[in-house]
Amino acid sequence: MKSNLLGLFADEIVKELGTYGFEKYRGQQIAKWMYQQGVSDFNVMTNIPNAKREILIDNFEISRPTITAHQESADKKTSKYLLTFKDGAAVETVLMKQHYGNSVCVSTQVGCAMGCKFCASTLQGVTRNLTAGEIFSQVLHCNNQLMVEQSTVNTIVIMGSGEPLANYDNVLRFIRLCHESYSLNMSYRNITLSTAGIVPGIKRLAEEGIPINLAISLHAPTTEIRSSIMPINNQYDMLSVINAADHYAEKTGRRVTYEYTLIENINDNDEHASALAKLLKGRLASVNLIPVNPVPERGLLRPKKHRVVQFLQSLQAHHINATVRKEMGADIQAACGQLRKKVLEQEESACIK
Ligand code: SF4
Repeated sequence: MKSNLLGLFADEIVKELGTYGFEKYRGQQIAKWMYQQGVSDFNVMTNIPNAKREILIDNFEISRPTITAHQESADKKTSKYLLTFKDGAAVETVLMKQHYGNSVCVSTQVGCAMGCKFCASTLQGVTRNLTAGEIFSQVLHCNNQLMVEQSTVNTIVIMGSGEPLANYDNVLRFIRLCHESYSLNMSYRNITLSTAGIVPGIKRLAEEGIPINLAISLHAPTTEIRSSIMPINNQYDMLSVINAADHYAEKTGRRVTYEYTLIENINDNDEHASALAKLLKGRLASVNLIPVNPVPERGLLRPKKHRVVQFLQSLQAHHINATVRKEMGADIQAACGQLRKKVLEQEESACIK
């Protein structure tokens, strides 16, 4: 079996090639081809001598997923890809062309075990963790798409399917790899990690010395409501999550974003807004309101527009920094997990036939 180089740091590539007599600097050369140029064919690596390229072709690979489904929004600003790896595992990746640059939302697990009621990614549970290379390959895929317009990915949000802190080592490797000068040379400040609230993971992340942006999926102003829509709250109560996030903000100096999905009649009235404001008052934090993408299987409805505005205004009246997330790609089911679910269902029904 060929050894996969995608996901390795330059010094690790050198080690991997060790017995074949590659010079030390070849590690960075190969890394630049893989991570900066998005190359997966050793034949294209023209600064590597033919004989060495032969060795690479015979013994190594740069394993990339294939696109098995693709949707593009009518305004062409959002593209959603279903990427399938060698073992058949498929994940969603979303590329969003924002006014401030190109942003890619990556998945970190195949499915998700967290069971949030408003999320389609968790409906089939979790299959496996993605490796750092598999997470990176999602960014490479988007960079390849952007190459035609001589553009590139500017920011990364780790917010697709999966709980990133449940796949801690691979996610951290991915983040550090993005930052390497021979790779994407991406500032940590251009990377955002969103967690459902794995307290030990948040505390560990605070000690890593990498000032990425942290987003907490809060989605409720009280522990009772949170437990009813996010089972993880029974393991890590929201107050312990907020305390861990405070610690993160203190350590990194980064403002924490609290994601709050608005669901009709569950967490969207004025009382809820006041309780949320009370909870976050005085903290280095902001709130991102997200009108729920209806998940028909769970009977969750989106609040009316005026309710969303009222909720926002109520937070602002309490001097909480809050915005409503700009909706991108609603016409292509850009919400997490919906495309994968649709394709899985089609495959299942094809099997039955
Ligand atoms: S919202 Fe995130 S953590 Fe919750 S089930 Fe979906 S992917 Fe998992």
